[in-house]
Amino acid sequence: MKDKIIDGKYHSNQVLEDVARQVATIKSEGKRVPCLVVILVGEDPASQVYVRNKKNACDKVGVSSVEYKLPQETTQQELEDLIHKLNQDITVDGILVQMPLPQHIDAQYILDKIDYHKDVDGFHKYNVGALATNSLLVAPCTPHGVMYLLDSLGVNYAGKHAVIVGASNIVGRPMGLELLNRGATITICHSKTIDLASHTRRADILVVAVGRANIITGDMLQQGAIVIDVGINRLASGKLVGDVDFASCEPVASHITPVPGGVGPMTIAMLLQNTLTCYKLSI
Ligand code: NAP
Repeated sequence: MKDKIIDGKYHSNQVLEDVARQVATIKSEGKRVPCLVVILVGEDPASQVYVRNKKNACDKVGVSSVEYKLPQETTQQELEDLIHKLNQDITVDGILVQMPLPQHIDAQYILDKIDYHKDVDGFHKYNVGALATNSLLVAPCTPHGVMYLLDSLGVNYAGKHAVIVGASNIVGRPMGLELLNRGATITICHSKTIDLASHTRRADILVVAVGRANIITGDMLQQGAIVIDVGINRLASGKLVGDVDFASCEPVASHITPVPGGVGPMTIAMLLQNTLTCYKLSI
């Protein structure tokens, strides 16, 4: 019997240790180690923390990392020129543009300028298309991390009903495709969904990625559902919580992720795994 509370920290460490082992082997063979470039435009404090965490994770597993910190007033053309230069650079394996970008820059336009073989976030339209056609190349990190957690429970997806709450390009939609590709029957809910609880109560697997604390409560679950909470919300008290009311959902769920310490650590681990995947595509 697997633990009821899914330990994302433990599983992310497993992934990072595996990446570190593979990088150590690459190094011992005298080869160039994988290199991730992270581009940050502007001074958004949360983005600065995310970029720092990504650099720390690179250091931990022996992946080399380069940071470009560009001013808020960087033009779309300047950013595009930098990406073009990095696309040509054979020593760069992964390129990550930290979101959100300033309003004057078209984010999807920029993401689509990254060589899709170096698209460690899996947001390029080719990689989205590859996921949609079940011919995965590089998968978006958060949904892929969720799949890792579900796989660790030994979930057999065939015949299961997976309900995803949230339909963003970075979490909800790719999450639905990942689960569909594995044989689950999926329902994707969003802000225009009527009677959310009528859908969530039919979920064997429930993944919630909205960005609103307590949007899911225990009475909205089927007994024994697996509950994955992607949300990250900071309460006025400063406390970090997910989208799921853990206190009322935990007794009903068969398995549940905590926040913090659930999906969050998996996202960074998958980024490092994707960097290694992109490196392998380049050699
Ligand atoms: P987002 O782009 O704002 O998307 C939110 C989604 O929720 C949208 O599809 C929206 O519907 C839907 N929604 C809003 N209100 C709803 C309601 N009342 N009922 C049902 N659906 C509703 O957010 P995101 O980028 O996907 O992120 C979602 C959450 O996950 C945030 O808390 C974010 O911080 C967190 N997150 C965590 C990680 C991690 O590593 N743990 C990674 C990424 C994101 P519409 O499409 O109709 O607008």
